[in-house]
Amino acid sequence: MKYAKERQAAVEAVLNACRLCRTVQATLISAESIAKKDKSPVTVADFGAQAVVANRLRWAFADDPLVGEEDAAALRGEANADLRRKVVASVQKIEPEMSESAILDAIDRGMYEGGPRGRHWTLDPIDGTKGFLRNEQYAVALALIEEGKVVLGVLGCPSLPHDGHKPDGPAGCLFIAVQGQGAVMRKLDDPTERPIHVTSISDPSRASFCESVESAHSAQDDSAKVAELLGITVPPYRIDSQCKYAAVARGDASIYLRLPTKKGYEEKIWDHAAGCIVIREAGGRATDVRGADLDFSLGRTLRNNLGVVVTNGVLHDRVIAAVRKVLGV
Ligand code: AMP
Ligand code: MG
Repeated sequence: MKYAKERQAAVEAVLNACRLCRTVQATLISAESIAKKDKSPVTVADFGAQAVVANRLRWAFADDPLVGEEDAAALRGEANADLRRKVVASVQKIEPEMSESAILDAIDRGMYEGGPRGRHWTLDPIDGTKGFLRNEQYAVALALIEEGKVVLGVLGCPSLPHDGHKPDGPAGCLFIAVQGQGAVMRKLDDPTERPIHVTSISDPSRASFCESVESAHSAQDDSAKVAELLGITVPPYRIDSQCKYAAVARGDASIYLRLPTKKGYEEKIWDHAAGCIVIREAGGRATDVRGADLDFSLGRTLRNNLGVVVTNGVLHDRVIAAVRKVLGV
C-alpha cells in the first residue's frame, strides 16, 4: 500500500503525543489554573507534543521538513527555565532517551515555511487549546502534504467519545485517512480500525451542524442565519478543534461551518490539513465559504481561502449557496 510507512510513523507519533497530552492534562490542569486562565499547562503540552511527533518523524523520514505551530525560541531563554524543565519532563515520560537539547531541536524542526514543492508534514500539536484547558475537546493533528496536496492525515482526539451518540461514554479516538484508501477510526488504546463514512442526509432541514465553541474563531451569528435559511432546527453542536471534521466524517453531524470573524485572518494549514483528508476520504467535502478548494500550496496559511465549510458532500452546494447569501460573498 502506498504511504504504508508514513501512515505507521504518523499513527505512532500521534498516539505518543496523545499520551503526553493526557498526562499533562491529568497532572497540570487544576481548577486553580483554569480560574486564573493560566495557560502554562497547555504550553507544556503544546511544546511536548511537537517534540514527540517531530522526533518520531525525523527517525523515519530524516529529510522531510515540518510545518509546526510551535518553535523553541521562547523555551531556550533563562527566563523560561521552569517551563523548559516541565516540557523536558513531559517528553521524557514518553521518550526517556531524549536530552534537553534534542527536545528543543526537535521542536525547532517545525519552522519550515511550507509551499508547493516536494513534500512536508504539518502539525498542530494541540489544536483547540482552549478546549484542552477546559478539559473538553482538543486534537493532535498531523498531515503529509505532497506537491501542495494533502495525501495523509491522522487526527488524535483524546477526549472524543468512541460513540458520538453517547457523549458520556468512554473516550479517546484516532482518525486515519490516506488518499484513495478511505478513512478509518480506532480507539486510542485498541488498534482495531473500522471504516467511517459521512451521513447520507440530503434534506438540509434534517441536518445538524457543528461550529467552534469560541465565537472569536467562527461567526456564530452568521452560522445561525445560515441554519435558519437551510431550515435547520437543532441547536449547533459546539466543540473545539478538528474534532469537528471527525464528527462530520463519522456522521455525528452533517455540516461544519467556520465563518470568518475578522477581516484579514488567514486560516493556518495545521488547523485544516488532517481534518480535510479525513473528511474527503469519508465521502465528504471541505471548501472555503465561496466553494473554492482549500489551497495548501501557499506556505503556512490558506491565504487564498476565506473561512471553511465542511459537509457530507450531498449537502455541499446548498450549504455554500446559503453561506454566500448570508455573507454576501
Ligand atoms: P477551534 O477549536 O475550532 O475554535 O479552532 C482553534 C483554532 O482557531 C486555533 O488553532 C487557532 O489557530 C485558530 N484561530 C485563532 N484565531 C482565529 C480566527 N480569528 N479565526 C479563525 N480561527 C482562528
Ligand atoms: Mg490549532
